Amino acid sequence: MGVSMAFEERRRILVKNLKEEGLIKSGSVELAFLKVPREKFVWEDEVENAYLDIPLPLGKTRQTISAPHMVAIMLEEMELKRGFKVLEVGCGSGYSAALMAEIVGSEGCVVSIERIPELVEFAKRNLEATGYGGTVKVVLGDGCLGYPPRSEEEIYDRVVVTAAASTIPKYLKKQTKQGGILLIPVGGPWSQTLKKLVKISADKFDVKDVTECVFVPLIESDEVL
Ligand code: SAH
Repeated sequence: MGVSMAFEERRRILVKNLKEEGLIKSGSVELAFLKVPREKFVWEDEVENAYLDIPLPLGKTRQTISAPHMVAIMLEEMELKRGFKVLEVGCGSGYSAALMAEIVGSEGCVVSIERIPELVEFAKRNLEATGYGGTVKVVLGDGCLGYPPRSEEEIYDRVVVTAAASTIPKYLKKQTKQGGILLIPVGGPWSQTLKKLVKISADKFDVKDVTECVFVPLIESDEVL
């Protein structure tokens, strides 16, 4: 067995590939990918696979950390800026939250909701260990209700859902600020379309289809459908 390549080198190669594929386009997304150590967010037995461009299982939770190319597509479409307030539904490992925290900086914040307690603990630990604990607030709960739950205030510059929805939860639309972006995979269990909604006014959105994708299901509570 040869000496395995250092993680930093593997990270650089992954970023180079994602740039060549035209998925990483902006300097801010590139810097975030170069900085956040994916090996600190994957499950212990997957560390060696941290820089493969594939989704990886999060232990026995039946959830996954998304593939880097999908995270890159989402981050570019979110058009994040320093100081933004972001809501993420589906914290999982905390990896995408850390990337977003890197871009919005300490002037901004990322609230990330997760429904599985084991993953809330896992993500919190990963985010603390990598220095993003102050910028990312991990919340246990049903992300379909937004945060604070059921608030109808326009709170966030950006809202992103990292699980597949059958419909777009109304509280997530409400909590997106005017001019803000809501990014969400919508469709059936086996394939979805990543939709980008730009909020024009209280109940008017400009909708664009970004790409076809496959995410684990968003567990939607009946109440909000
Ligand atoms: N962004 C994550 C990927 C998470 S996969 C990462 O970078 O690792 C999607 C996550 O959404 C899973 O952890 C799943 O438990 C969570 N999820 C599904 N439905 C949810 C809901 N209604 N509220 C909050 N989290 C939910």
